[in-house]
Amino acid sequence: MQMMSKEKAKRYYRNMSQLIFNQEFRTEQDCYEWLFKNRWPGGFRCPFCSGQEYGRISTRGLYQCKSCRKQISLITGTIFHKTRVPLLKWFMLIHRMASSKTGVSINEMKRELEIKDYKTVWVMAHKIRKAMADRDARYSLSGLVELDESFFGPAGSGKRGRGAEKKQLVIIAVSGWKHTNGTEHPGFAHAFIAEDASAETIEGLLRRLGILDIQMEPFIKAIRTDGWRSYEKIAEKLGLIHYRAVLGNPKDAAKILTWTHQLISNAKAVFSGPHRGVSQKHLQRYLSEVCYRFNRRFWNREMFDRLLTACVSTDTITRNELMVGSI
Ligand SMILES: [Zn+2]
Repeated sequence: MQMMSKEKAKRYYRNMSQLIFNQEFRTEQDCYEWLFKNRWPGGFRCPFCSGQEYGRISTRGLYQCKSCRKQISLITGTIFHKTRVPLLKWFMLIHRMASSKTGVSINEMKRELEIKDYKTVWVMAHKIRKAMADRDARYSLSGLVELDESFFGPAGSGKRGRGAEKKQLVIIAVSGWKHTNGTEHPGFAHAFIAEDASAETIEGLLRRLGILDIQMEPFIKAIRTDGWRSYEKIAEKLGLIHYRAVLGNPKDAAKILTWTHQLISNAKAVFSGPHRGVSQKHLQRYLSEVCYRFNRRFWNREMFDRLLTACVSTDTITRNELMVGSI
């Protein structure tokens, strides 16, 4: 490919990706074939007896091993488990969620996928978000980590004073990486809803993200914050270097803590756009989507393949579990 501007390259990849999708996935069978190849890249292998001979029981991805006679479903252990929606529609939604910058509108997808029930599409999107969150949960933060807090909440709750109470506190952590020329750039991000910004809460978070064990050398070596006393306490307790960005005016935070604020502004765009009015109960999953996208912002074309792989590598979440917000 010839040199092209960054903007042009972005458009090229997005169009190309849609084109490839439409060519590769035309029928239900194409989707099952993708699942088959993803599960058994070297050909069928029975998970029970390692047999390699199989019979096809149904066109919906059900196989039977010829040696032990056990049945294997391609969609068990994936987010498609027990779905009644055709896989092609799932794949289309995954593709749209992977290529969109701020997330998709459920109403729009409902029309595109020709699914009558709003809730069905809503649940599908949340299952995909869960796959995103599960995938990112595997990654630790390391080196220098920038930390900051922000508030997100239902639209319209921005009334002064009382309104602020309705918003949910979110802690954002972004680790950096060093370019060979010595400049530092934001790398991987996590964002979590939190009850408070106490030292205990933040310590728990850091332990989960990159300080595995007191005996082990921590992945996280240093933190950069606005100097809030909770951070001060934790840095001391965990023996981390603490860079305090001293803020005269809180509005300057975006200029000094640029990594976390890049993520915060992405999230604000999502919550003022396609996902306006997200309830606190589901906020974490939308944040996971924002982080997933942020963490893969340079991938472009690979996004769909990676997200599809994440979707078939994780268990599903049921509609009931979603409603009670247990995950
Ligand atoms: Zn077998």
